[in-house]
Amino acid sequence: MSNFSSDQVRCSLVQDHSKNNSINYILTRADGTIVNEINIGQEEWKYRYPPEKKLFSWKFIDHTPDMRIKVQLRAFQEAFNSIEKVTKLKIDFQKDYTKQTDITVEWLESIESFDNKLSVLAHAWLYSPNSRKNGVMEFNDSPESKWFFTPLGWPVPAYRVDNVNYHKGQTDPRTGKLVMLASQPTVKIVMHEFGHVLGLRHDLIHKDSMMFPSVSRTYKNNKVIKKIFYWDSVSSIPRLTQDYGTAGILARIMDRWRSRRVRESTYKRYA
Ligand SMILES: [Zn+2]
Repeated sequence: MSNFSSDQVRCSLVQDHSKNNSINYILTRADGTIVNEINIGQEEWKYRYPPEKKLFSWKFIDHTPDMRIKVQLRAFQEAFNSIEKVTKLKIDFQKDYTKQTDITVEWLESIESFDNKLSVLAHAWLYSPNSRKNGVMEFNDSPESKWFFTPLGWPVPAYRVDNVNYHKGQTDPRTGKLVMLASQPTVKIVMHEFGHVLGLRHDLIHKDSMMFPSVSRTYKNNKVIKKIFYWDSVSSIPRLTQDYGTAGILARIMDRWRSRRVRESTYKRYA
């Protein structure tokens, strides 16, 4: 472990069991120790990609069985587009997984990759010069963890999340309705982790910020809450545009328009 630089900090997403309505992000050093938000030493993380770096490429190394590949691609593109459209960054998908890319997305079945913690959903490393972990985003797809990923985290029939304790078509005897369980909101997770990849720390103040360290569930009473993109104009977006440039006014207007029509129904045809 000693060969890790102390500059290697990653953010993991963990399930908060005390409040089953939220998942929390925690910052840890590469050796697994938790980084206290206060003792990082400064308000902002000290590193950003060089200003001339505007083009990023990303690829899937593998996929989760939870969503159709087309749906996964769409969810990641929604997340990257939301940042692309407000900054000068261009984030391009690389279809050929043998090619080198700036960002790699991997779904890992081995729980060792997450320090044997079943509660970790995903993690990414904050940018650090010369770190081999730059751009690495890893998702916990271990069978023990029983995460089930959907684009927006909508409720899914229980057996899809946990086929040991639930069977297909299982209904709640009190209501006669299908038993539904939580799924994980991929778009939000990717936006947050990509913020870290670009070198953003958490925003502890603005609850709607994509960099706020916890994400509340995106649904209530089996209904998905439609808001998924955060126009946190006082928070993450200015921090990103300050370092990575501001998109032209036209791009921003287009994106506002686009974000309004991004709804659960956008994905329904792929379900
Ligand atoms: Zn985080």
